[in-house]
Amino acid sequence: MNAARPTAQHVLVINAGSSSLKYQVVDASSGAALATGLIERIGEKTGQVSHTVGDCDHEREVDVPDHAAAMAAMSEAFSEHGPDLAGVNLAAVGHRVVQGGPEFSESVLITPEVEAAIEDVSDLAPLHNPPNLAGIRAARETFSDLPQVAVFDTAFHRTMPAHAATYALDREVAQAHRIRRYGAHGTSHQYVARAAAHELGIAPEQANLIILHLGNGASATAVANGNSVDTSMGLTPLEGLVMGTRTGDIDPAVVFHLARTAGMDIDAIDTIMNRRSGLLGLAGSNDMRDVEAGVDAGDENARLALEVYCYRLRKYIGAYTAVLGRVDAVVFTAGIGENSAPVRARTLAGLESLGISLDPVANETRGTVRISTAESRVAVLVVPTNEEWEIAREAVAVLGG
Ligand code: ADP
Repeated sequence: MNAARPTAQHVLVINAGSSSLKYQVVDASSGAALATGLIERIGEKTGQVSHTVGDCDHEREVDVPDHAAAMAAMSEAFSEHGPDLAGVNLAAVGHRVVQGGPEFSESVLITPEVEAAIEDVSDLAPLHNPPNLAGIRAARETFSDLPQVAVFDTAFHRTMPAHAATYALDREVAQAHRIRRYGAHGTSHQYVARAAAHELGIAPEQANLIILHLGNGASATAVANGNSVDTSMGLTPLEGLVMGTRTGDIDPAVVFHLARTAGMDIDAIDTIMNRRSGLLGLAGSNDMRDVEAGVDAGDENARLALEVYCYRLRKYIGAYTAVLGRVDAVVFTAGIGENSAPVRARTLAGLESLGISLDPVANETRGTVRISTAESRVAVLVVPTNEEWEIAREAVAVLGG
């Protein structure tokens, strides 16, 4: 007897940035991507659409003055190269929204009130929420018959206890300006937490994990019983680990010093800390592959950059081990976490006293998920992240699927 096969629920996942829009049609149950695409240089004279279906890439230049035009260019790419969106039976459009502020602790169906609330917290993410909203509005026009769901990068971290989310800043000032630690990369941490628990053979709500999301942006999260209890990013993504172009943790007095002594204005300091520091500032490239090549070639700046990067990671692993008490696994994900064996090796070297013991051969073997030794009390895992699949799942869950 054949069991009835459930019909696939596809979600169009949209990640709208200020000058780019990424999209993907995802099967929410399997994670399979039917098509992926990227529209770049929104707002510039000539934009670029890259649309991939299966093994076929289709690229072309188009005029994309704004997000509405980008959405039209995306629809055109689907019409021309497939898949036919009417034929794949889309269940929803899922939107990545960077900042949900204090309001949103989970994904929601987008209504005019939700749009207003996202706009209201835009001051907390002025570079991200406005383009996210522009993407939502453009999608609402183009796909007026589909439910639109917002999935917040901060939502997973709303389980952080007050003692982890609160800065020891003047309470009235903090309250008046909604200053607290919100974290980011929540969608990735949530996906990876569940995937890591699956790999460990334990229920997600039992998993105690230290997750290291190391992409261009980077954050560490302490997960206790499946919930985020601390994360390294704060009010904004500037806090925490060393990143491609961001300082991560730094004495805030550096800002006063640069303003008073070097005469820099606040925008210049913002640019230095967010765009010209991190690996780029120390080694001249924000790409870890270049830094590793520099180390191999004997470049001292590259060597120091790698050491600073890994040392910061070790400090967070130590801190989060203290926060969690019992750690089931340290989990590496995103571009650097998934691909850089040297970063993993350098970060975990000598942490046997914390119960962490890396298997050097497994660490170098691409595609291996568990890279700790058989004796390691704490497992070390490499788990590829998949934020689009998580957004698709969240969208379906919001619709009661
Ligand atoms: P984003 O945060 O933009 O989504 P990714 O998660 O894709 O970034 O990570 C991008 C970064 O991953 C690159 O800038 C590079 O530093 C790093 N990376 C990618 N492949 C490798 C590799 N094979 N070895 C070391 N680092 C890598």
